[in-house]
Amino acid sequence: MTIVIIGNSAAAVGAIEAIRKVDRSIPITVISDEPHSVYSRPLISYLLSGEIKPDQIYYRPKNFYEKNGVQTLLGRRVVKADFEKKKVQLENREKISYDRLLIATGGKPFIPKMEGLDIAGVHTFTKLEDVQKISSVLKEVQRAVVIGGGLIGLKAAEALSKGKIEVTVVELADHILSLTLDETASSILEKALKKEGVHLITSNTVEAILGENGVESVRLADGRLLKTQLVVVAIGVVPNVDPFKETSLRIEKGILVNERMETNVPDVYAAGDVTQAYDKILKSYRTIPIWPNAYVQGKIAGYQMTGNKKYQYEGSFMMNSIEVAHIPTISIGLTIPPSENGYQVLKKIDRGSNVYRKVILRGDTIVGAIFTGQIDRAGIMTGLLRDGVKVKGFKKELLSEQFGFISFPKALRKERLLNLK
Ligand SMILES: Cc1cc2nc3c(=O)[nH]c(=O)nc-3n(C[C@H](O)[C@H](O)[C@H](O)COP(=O)(O)OP(=O)(O)OC[C@H]3O[C@@H](n4cnc5c(N)ncnc54)[C@H](O)[C@@H]3O)c2cc1C
Repeated sequence: MTIVIIGNSAAAVGAIEAIRKVDRSIPITVISDEPHSVYSRPLISYLLSGEIKPDQIYYRPKNFYEKNGVQTLLGRRVVKADFEKKKVQLENREKISYDRLLIATGGKPFIPKMEGLDIAGVHTFTKLEDVQKISSVLKEVQRAVVIGGGLIGLKAAEALSKGKIEVTVVELADHILSLTLDETASSILEKALKKEGVHLITSNTVEAILGENGVESVRLADGRLLKTQLVVVAIGVVPNVDPFKETSLRIEKGILVNERMETNVPDVYAAGDVTQAYDKILKSYRTIPIWPNAYVQGKIAGYQMTGNKKYQYEGSFMMNSIEVAHIPTISIGLTIPPSENGYQVLKKIDRGSNVYRKVILRGDTIVGAIFTGQIDRAGIMTGLLRDGVKVKGFKKELLSEQFGFISFPKALRKERLLNLK
C-alpha cells in the first residue's frame, strides 16, 4: 500500500507521525508546492520582525523525512486528481499513484477583486516566501497599508511596525478581530495598537491600489488616498481546493469529512484548513483554520489510513491566541451569542489594566470565552468547555481572578485532577 499526502504542514506532519506509530514500512510520499521543510506558519510574522532567526521557523528537524522514511516531492504542485484511477497529476503532467490519499492543502489567501493588485509592492502574508519577498524590499518602505484587521493582518501590521514602518490597517468591519472578539475586547486592543503608532481605519476598505512602477498609494471606499510603498492583503484564508474542483469530491466551504477524516470518495481523506469538519459548540460543519486542529485532524487521518480505527474526531471549536501591543488575548468557541434566548453572558472589565473576562454559557455549560490582559486561566476554561462540564455550582467563580481548580466543587476537582494524570 502507498500513501500520498498533498501538503507539507501541520496536518501532513500529524498524519506522518501517526502512520509511523503504527507501521514503519508503508511507503509515504509528500507533495508540496512550497520548496521548504515543514515550518511553523504561525511564526512567519516573528521572522519578519526579526524576533526569531530563520532556523527557528522549522517545525521538525531537517532529517524528519529521512527518519520517517518519507519520500518528498517539494516545490511541486498537484493540479488534478483522478480518483477512479487513483492518481494525482503534477504541473509537469507527471502522475503519482496512491492507494490512500490525504488532502492537506490547507488554506490560500482570500484576495478580493481590486484594481492594482498586480503592481509591484503588493503582497499576501501566508507563506515563508511572502516574508522573504517583503523583507527584500523593506529598506525602501516608510509606509505600509495592511488590508484586513483579523489575526493575519494584525500579525503582519505588528511585525512591520516593529521595523519602524508607519502602518495603517484598513478593516471592513467596525472593529478589528471581528470574527473572534466582541467590541469591548477589540476596543482594548485598538487603543493599545494606536498607542504603539499603528493607524486603524475601520468600517472602510481599499478600493484601488495605485502606482506606476510600484505602489504609491491606495484609494479607500470613502475616496481618501493613503500614501504607501507596500500593501499587504491579509483578509483571511479560504480552503485550497483548486485541484479538486472538477471531481466528485464533496466540497461546500471546504472538503466535507466525517469523524474518520474520510471524504465521500473511497480512500481519499482530508485534514486541516482545507476541511469543513464538525464544530462541537456550533453543532455544525465549518472550517476551523487553526494549527492544533490541523495537526489533530492529520493525526486521526494518519491512523485511519493505516486501518487503525481507534482514534476518531470528536469535533473541535475555534480558538485564537494573539498578543497585540503587549496585550495577550485568547478567544474560545462562541464569543458572541447568536441570541439572548438560552445564553447567559458573564463579564468583568478593568480598563485601567486592560483586563477583560467574558464567559458565555448555554444552560450550565461554557460555550465560549474571551480573555484579554490576563490569560493564565484560559487553559482551565478551555478544558471545561471541551468536556462540556456543568458549572452550575460555581458560575460566580468563573470571572474571579483566582479562578482555578480550587473554585470547583470537591467531587469535580477530584475528577479533573485525576484526568490530568
Ligand atoms: C500569518 C499566519 C499566522 C497564523 N497564526 C496562527 C496562530 O497563532 N495560531 C493558530 O492556531 N493558527 C495560526 N495560523 C493558522 C495555521 O497556520 C493553519 O491553521 C495551519 O497552518 C493549517 O495547516 P494545514 O496543514 O491544514 O495547511 P497549511 O499550513 O495551509 O499548508 C498547506 C500546504 O499545502 C500546500 N499546497 C496547497 N495546494 C497544493 C497543491 N495543489 N499541490 C501541492 N501543494 C499544495 C501549500 O503550499 C502549503 O504548503 C496562522 C496562519 C497564518 C498565515
